[in-house]
Amino acid sequence: GGGKRCRRLDPSLAPSVFSGAEAVLFDCDGVLWRGDTAVPGAAETLRRLEGENDKKQKRRLLCYVTNNSSRTREAYTEKLRRLGFPPAEARQVFGSGFCAARFLRAALPPGGASSTYVLGGPALAAELEAAGVPHLGAGPTPESLSSPSESPAVLFGTRAALDPSVGAVLVGYDEHFSYGKLCLALRYLRRDPQCLLVGTNRDHRLPLEGGSALPGTGCLVKAVETAAEREAFIVGKPSRYIFECVMKEFNIDPARTIMVGDRLDTDILMGEGSPNRIQSPFQNILGHPFCHSGLRIGLHHCSSSSQLDPNFAQAPCAGG
Ligand code: PLP
Ligand code: CA
Repeated sequence: GGGKRCRRLDPSLAPSVFSGAEAVLFDCDGVLWRGDTAVPGAAETLRRLEGENDKKQKRRLLCYVTNNSSRTREAYTEKLRRLGFPPAEARQVFGSGFCAARFLRAALPPGGASSTYVLGGPALAAELEAAGVPHLGAGPTPESLSSPSESPAVLFGTRAALDPSVGAVLVGYDEHFSYGKLCLALRYLRRDPQCLLVGTNRDHRLPLEGGSALPGTGCLVKAVETAAEREAFIVGKPSRYIFECVMKEFNIDPARTIMVGDRLDTDILMGEGSPNRIQSPFQNILGHPFCHSGLRIGLHHCSSSSQLDPNFAQAPCAGG
């Protein structure tokens, strides 16, 4: 968008694009893997980008930035290992669940209303626990724990007691999203105008193999926003918050950082520096979402560096 053109990254140009980069941030689903299958050529490309064969140079930092809040950063580290990607530490992985937990820990006053009502699954709950953020609500619907003859609207919309310590509502990927949860979220948000409303991400669809799709977390965030008549703070891409988590952890320079992604409205927008996002010369590489023959990437904003790195001349960057 914005009048900018995407260009296919020719393999001969890849060295000049990456040679000045100290850090490369990777979107996960659609770029490194699809579901449980690695994108062919992606692991090999990452090994080259990291510079494992170059003894003279400092290794390039690789980080993994995903809007998927349904796994912990440890689970992503294990998945990277299992699919043959270069060894990564958990601190190189920035999931929207992990970063949401970090945000809430900093935003909720200790001693005040410090716990979080969660619409999400066990991984989101685990990230909150690891960050020391007390929480409730994650997991099965409250309806499933009550008598089937009772109306969820009456029970959760009016009767059920609210936890006095809740100071935030967090909406992540929740396979057990329900009307009862929506009722409780609305009551927490109405009870206290200071109660925070936080969403992990706004991806509205999760594309599946073969062209079908599932509703994404954005649908759930919208439902709570609509009920509460307020806008959620979004942690994941394209919010600059998730990028700042990476920047703070590794002290990276945005001008020497490349973002590789498959979605314009999340990955590439985060790197773009549009209003409310990163204000810096940030380079962006758009991975082709449905390419099965190597990590096909389009050059979105080219580095002016023309230094060639022979290691990359053979990289399968523009294959297929
Ligand atoms: N959210 C959920 C629940 C997902 O399953 C996925 C992809 O599988 C995403 C978000 C998008 O993740 P990413 O940012 O790695 O493309
Ligand atoms: Ca993606």
